[in-house]
This record gives sequence, structure tokens and C-alpha cells, in this order.
Amino acid sequence: MNLTIQIEHYLPQQPLQLIKTISKQANQSGQRAYLVGGTVRDMILGYANFDLDLVIEGNAVKLAQHIAKASQAKLITHPRFGTAKLSYSDFTLDMTTARGETYARPGALPEVTPGTINDDLFRRDFSINAMAISLNKNNYGELIDPYQGKRDLEHRFIRILHPGSFRDDATRIIRATRYEQRLGFKIEPQTFQLLKQNIPMIETLSGDRIRHELELIFREEYPEFAINRLNQLGMLQRINSSLKGDGWIAGKFDKARSVSKLSQLPSLYLCLLVYPLQGEDNERLIQRLNIPTKLAQVLRDTLRLKSQLHLLDKPSIKHSEIYYLLYEYKPLAIQANAIASESPAVHSNLELFLTKLRYVRATLTGKELINLGIPAGPQLGEILQALHTAKLNNEVKTGAEEKRLALLLKSYV
Ligand code: ATP
Ligand code: MG
Repeated sequence: MNLTIQIEHYLPQQPLQLIKTISKQANQSGQRAYLVGGTVRDMILGYANFDLDLVIEGNAVKLAQHIAKASQAKLITHPRFGTAKLSYSDFTLDMTTARGETYARPGALPEVTPGTINDDLFRRDFSINAMAISLNKNNYGELIDPYQGKRDLEHRFIRILHPGSFRDDATRIIRATRYEQRLGFKIEPQTFQLLKQNIPMIETLSGDRIRHELELIFREEYPEFAINRLNQLGMLQRINSSLKGDGWIAGKFDKARSVSKLSQLPSLYLCLLVYPLQGEDNERLIQRLNIPTKLAQVLRDTLRLKSQLHLLDKPSIKHSEIYYLLYEYKPLAIQANAIASESPAVHSNLELFLTKLRYVRATLTGKELINLGIPAGPQLGEILQALHTAKLNNEVKTGAEEKRLALLLKSYV
């Protein structure tokens, strides 16, 4: 099968030109280049996918350096691993030197040796991701498909390449559910047997690797599908026994999409996933997934605020009271609570803080107060806070009103 027409059709001008340049450069320098992975899968399925993955039989880093210079891309290389990433304004291109992998023990990072394109395809997760398209002169556009990936695409099957696959790398269990749910495919029966048998192998994975796969799920259009599936397979509980992926999660994820910026959605989904957890379970999860400090703080804030929400469960509450209850919490934790809470009053008070109150500042500065004759010191701080409170509660509106209030307070303290 030759896919030259699909390459031309699915790739926009800039990546297309780049692929052609790489093809030419590789041929001239006696190397061989291949498009691989998700790009090939999606091209055959008829979807656009601009995260291009290339495998080079030769030296991917050198070739990438050459290409980056000529096309003004941002370049990151890892010469030890033979990989390079080129970033352009609206697409990225990963280049990897063809390699084979062996696993010293389950879940470990693989040992890597230089190899051919076939070795490189054999180290991959599923047959549908283990196809390549040649970019070489003698067979440009030719599909290389040693594991019948195209047949599996037609049958809508997720299939591993060998029986030891999930044992070698149990992240593939998580990945299988992600593709199953995204593409609406079936996990091929034998693969599914092995998947279920190997669920305990999740214990062999590092926190970083599990977290990375969860992040990939959180970047899906509808992550709740894969989360529900992981729940059903008993996988979520292997990560943390209190995690649940149920109808509640699905509803809240849907709501999150309608209110959140795309860049914050993955963290927001995670907040909602931990929402039903107790503090200790949350700490265990943070440890297990090695969650970075900042994000861990957001998760802790989410649960801490959850335990305080009753204070906000009244329709008439002073704006300053809302402000001082919430100002120390991370905004994302507040957002998560606004989505999770079932109380309309709590919801609207949290939203009021997020959209308005957190931005309210008094007009007068400390310096201006000193100019009004208020001495620097604790009193100044008190007056500043009183002005802020009055502003929050709409008791003062203009700078002149603030000034009047400041002078009045000065005469009291
Ligand atoms: P997506 O559309 O989700 O980005 P993708 O196929 O590009 O799909 P990535 O997670 O970006 O998926 O990985 C790129 C390629 O690397 C995959 O197509 C697969 O061939 C290979 N790969 C990634 N993770 C693994 C793994 N754990 N084991 C084997 N191969 C993997
Ligand atoms: Mg990808």
C-alpha cells in the first residue's frame, strides 16, 4: 500500500515541506527516514495528527540539527538517547534514531540498542501504533506494517505485539484503555486476557510513568471514558484504593470543560478525581504519583476548602467574608470546588470570588496614606485592610470616598 496521496492530503503545507526536506537530506546522507506511530495510524483512519514522529536509520540528532538550522525551529536534543524534538508554531516533530529495546525487569526503563526500522516497530505498544511510512527514494510512501496494524485498524482492534508486552511495560495497560475509548475500538480478546492478568504489574511502575499516562488521558477530548474503564478494570484502585471513576466524575468532567481554559483542564480533572478522597488518601496518591509540589498544593487546597464549604453555604454573606475565607487558596482548587459543590449558594459565592472579588484592590496605596499624615506602622496596615474590606463590600466606590474613610479611621486609631 502506498500512502503518498494521504501524506499530501493530511499534512498542511509547512509540515509537508519539512517531511520532503528531511526525506531528501536523509537520502543524500545515506540514511533512511520513516514516519511512524500515531501519525501513520491517524492518516490511515483519516484523521489529522500534527504531532509528527520520525524514525531515522542513521543519526537522528545530527539530521535534526541540520534541519532545525535550515528551518528555524526550536530544537531540543538528547544525544544519549538518540532523540530530538523540533518545535514550530503549530506542530512538533520528534526524531528518533531507530532502536531496539530489552527490559531488564518488568516496568524498568528499557535498555536500548541501535536497530533497524523493524526493531523499532517491534518495541512499540500496539499493532495500530507499529506501522511506518517510508520517506526513502526507492519506496517513498510505502506502508511498512510487519504486525498487521492495518488489518487491526480495519477490525478496530487494539492488539499487543507479543505476550510479554504488558509485563515488560504495564503503562501499556493504561494506554490500551485510552485508545480503546478514544477510537471506539475493542481490545482484541487475547490481548484483553493478558491485560487483565497483568493488572497487578501496575505496582512495578514508577509514579512518574503512571502520572504521565494519566496526563495523556486528561488531554483526551473525553477523559471520563478512559477513567471509567480503568475503574471498571480495577486499575484505578490499584493506583489508590479510594479512587473512583463513576457517573459523578463524568458529570463533573463535563462541567469542567464548559468553564475551564484548555491549558488548565488536566489539573482540574485531577482535582475532581481526588475530590471524594480523604486527606490521608490524597497524601498517599501524591506520593505514589510523585506529584510535583505546586500541583500537590492545589490538590491539598482542594480538599481543605471542601471541608470549609459550609461557611459559604448562605445566600447573604458579606463579600469581605467570602474574600477572607478564600484568598489563601489556589484559584484552581476554588474552581474545582465550584464545579464539585452541589449547593447553588456555595457555587455562586465561589464564582463571585473567582470572577470579581479576588481582583478587588483599594485605590489608595500605603504611600498615599502616609502623605495623608498616617504614620507608617501597624495602624497603616489596619487602615489599608479596612479600606480593602470597605471596597469589597461596596461601602466605598471612589478614591475620594476612600480618602474620607481613611481620615475618619485615622482620627479613631
Ligand atoms: P496520540 O495520538 O495519543 O499522541 P501517539 O501514537 O502519538 O498517539 P504517544 O503517546 O505520543 O502516542 O507515543 C508515540 C508513539 O510511541 C506511539 O505511537 C507508540 O508507538 C510509541 N509508544 C509510546 N509509549 C509506548 C510504550 N509505553 N510502549 C511502547 N510504545 C510506546
Ligand atoms: Mg503523540
